[in-house]
Amino acid sequence: MTMPAIADRLKNVSVSASVAMTQKARDLAAQGIKVIGLSTGEPDFPTPEHAIEAAYAAARAGDTKYPPTDGTPALRAAIQRKFKRDNNLDYDVTRILTAGGGKQIIFNAMLATINPGDEVLIPTPAWISYADIVKFAGGVPVPVNCTQANHFKLRPEDLEAAITPKTKWLLLNYPSNPTGSACSRAEMAAIADVMLRHEHVWIMTDDMYEHLIYDDFEFCTIADVEPRLFDRVLTVNGVSKAYAMTGWRMGFCGGPADLVKAMSNVNTQNSGGICTLTQAAAIAVLDGPQDLLKERATIYQQRRDFVLGRLADIPGLQCHKPEGAFYLFPNMSELIGRTSRGGRRIGSDTDFVMALMEEHHVTTVQGAAYGMSPYFRLSYATSLDVLGEGCDRIAEFCAGLK
Ligand code: PLP
Repeated sequence: MTMPAIADRLKNVSVSASVAMTQKARDLAAQGIKVIGLSTGEPDFPTPEHAIEAAYAAARAGDTKYPPTDGTPALRAAIQRKFKRDNNLDYDVTRILTAGGGKQIIFNAMLATINPGDEVLIPTPAWISYADIVKFAGGVPVPVNCTQANHFKLRPEDLEAAITPKTKWLLLNYPSNPTGSACSRAEMAAIADVMLRHEHVWIMTDDMYEHLIYDDFEFCTIADVEPRLFDRVLTVNGVSKAYAMTGWRMGFCGGPADLVKAMSNVNTQNSGGICTLTQAAAIAVLDGPQDLLKERATIYQQRRDFVLGRLADIPGLQCHKPEGAFYLFPNMSELIGRTSRGGRRIGSDTDFVMALMEEHHVTTVQGAAYGMSPYFRLSYATSLDVLGEGCDRIAEFCAGLK
């Protein structure tokens, strides 16, 4: 008997490596093994109390019916204020849209715009999902290499060389997942200069890590740096990382009116809008006190510096100092070709993270999953105790490689 078939469009779309690694950690933990999880890109802080209160009050008040698909007027007004306050961007509320996470915003943008064969430039290493979402929409992801020598940032000349008549989008993500690198205003202005010359290309900036920025580095976003690009930029953000609200599923964007309208059409067909209680919680954090952002950033910075210090003492690893996010992206090229105590040959970064997980029960993610080897991504969104033990185990593992 022939079984019904899964769609061809899924053939090239992979399961996220970080999700797969997190699942492996859960499997090991279920066997009673103490796992140090450094693979998940998720704040370990609780959701702010005022968000929970607002959601509870909304539920008690009967705000439990179908919401407006694009977000309630109150939520979109709060987002409008946020863009003005934090980013100096003046979006009319009709140009603002919400969806079930930044991920769904990006997904809707790609579905709304990509025709078969359209190219999307992805400065790489990059968040795992960009390329898969582009493929899902029928487009062609085009990685633009951003080397460690340039702190994993996009060079204008590489951007210029990658643009073709088929280029539909440039995706930007600074601070970046997986490297934590962020662009200064001058660096962003140089990227914007290139984009001014290529009017057929839209720019999506994923500013999810905007508030996770350290050492007085100043975050910037391209539509503010170069206002002449405002009508070609989709500015994407969310509450997941900034406010420790990953489970609430809420992302938002401001962008060109026609694009936002098309994305809204996609939204009406693939979801009925986001949970009403989440919307109430999002208004509370966007309009509420913002001091927790700085307080948490200070804690993340301590963790970054702690782990950087520990990694610097591990022969064979080399790590750049990122400006933001909560990831480190150490280079492990010197360890390629060695063999672990458990007899595993380390031929790649994937071998490295698998052996580290199997033998010392620390989960990280291979650089290959982000389009650049031989590196691995380590998330420091966890306590100093956990990070200390994780670093001990990584050091022990590396010392055992012969
Ligand atoms: N963009 C980047 C760069 C991310 O790292 C993530 C999550 O890991 C997202 C978007 C998705 O965020 P959300 O939880 O809002 O869907």
